[in-house]
Amino acid sequence: MNKENVLLQANHIKKYFQGRGKNVVKAVDDVSLTLHRGETLGLVGESGCGKSTLGRALLRLIEPTQGEILYNGQDLRKLPEREMRLMRQHMQMVFQNPYSSLNPRMTVLESVRAPLDIFKIGTPEERFEKCREIMKYVGFEEYQIYRYPHEFSGGQRQRVVIARALISDPDFIVCGEPVSALDVSVRAQVLNLMRDINEKRGLAYLFISHDLSVVKHVSDRIAVMYLGNLVELAECEELYRNPKHPYTKALLSSIPIPDPDVMVERIPLEGDLPSPMNPPGGCRFHTRCPYAKERCRTERPRFQYDQKGHGAACHMCE
Ligand code: SF4
Repeated sequence: MNKENVLLQANHIKKYFQGRGKNVVKAVDDVSLTLHRGETLGLVGESGCGKSTLGRALLRLIEPTQGEILYNGQDLRKLPEREMRLMRQHMQMVFQNPYSSLNPRMTVLESVRAPLDIFKIGTPEERFEKCREIMKYVGFEEYQIYRYPHEFSGGQRQRVVIARALISDPDFIVCGEPVSALDVSVRAQVLNLMRDINEKRGLAYLFISHDLSVVKHVSDRIAVMYLGNLVELAECEELYRNPKHPYTKALLSSIPIPDPDVMVERIPLEGDLPSPMNPPGGCRFHTRCPYAKERCRTERPRFQYDQKGHGAACHMCE
């Protein structure tokens, strides 16, 4: 993809939180990535690896400690709060839990219309018409828009949340584990809807999930995070066919295959994720990596791309 197609460029993003005493939690530690227009970039890793923090930091829902976020070439971190708020109509977020992301005292019409009210977009009649249209687009009948969230199932509520994210015609949506709170039976419906929206409206997603099989279903490229660092990034097919980083290999080998005749070599991921308060030196993965050498304990590997745009941070790939 060429440079004109770049929608968002994040450079050296860090997000540190103050822990107890002098401890600092390095939730995101020097992550750089690019998102293209209309692209779905999957972001995976174990819980606690910093992927949700990164998603929020990119929208400045939490302020990054350091780094640059260029959105359509404009540095978001230099925007005053008022301009940043206006910018948010182009950048939305769909959270994991549709139960808590909707106000139980508002009808779904009021919830979906809220961004238009906040940004004062259109007349009251135009706002109503737009809500009706977008609710129809995500699969609701007109009579349902006057109902309250408790009258809907989990999958329907997540579709309401998606409608609310779409109402201000964004270019970019951060999807934070959007289907993990849903029953398996409705996940596919919501994922198909999201893919359809991406294809028809050409908007870009950062799709955060711990579930590699879900991410594979929707992503053009996939980024893998481990303990606050980006460890691998590649086109979806390339990553599944030719993973480079031992952590990605271990994650991929743990995906269940529903065919008893297919044998997959499992790469065990031993031990827990170390604390981001005191991450291991050198390569952060060395405490769990079956290929770790002496150099891995002391020297942090650089993130390097090959000619195909497949990047990884591992001494074995240098
Ligand atoms: Fe494993 Fe060393 Fe590569 Fe880190 S740099 S993933 S420890 S081989």
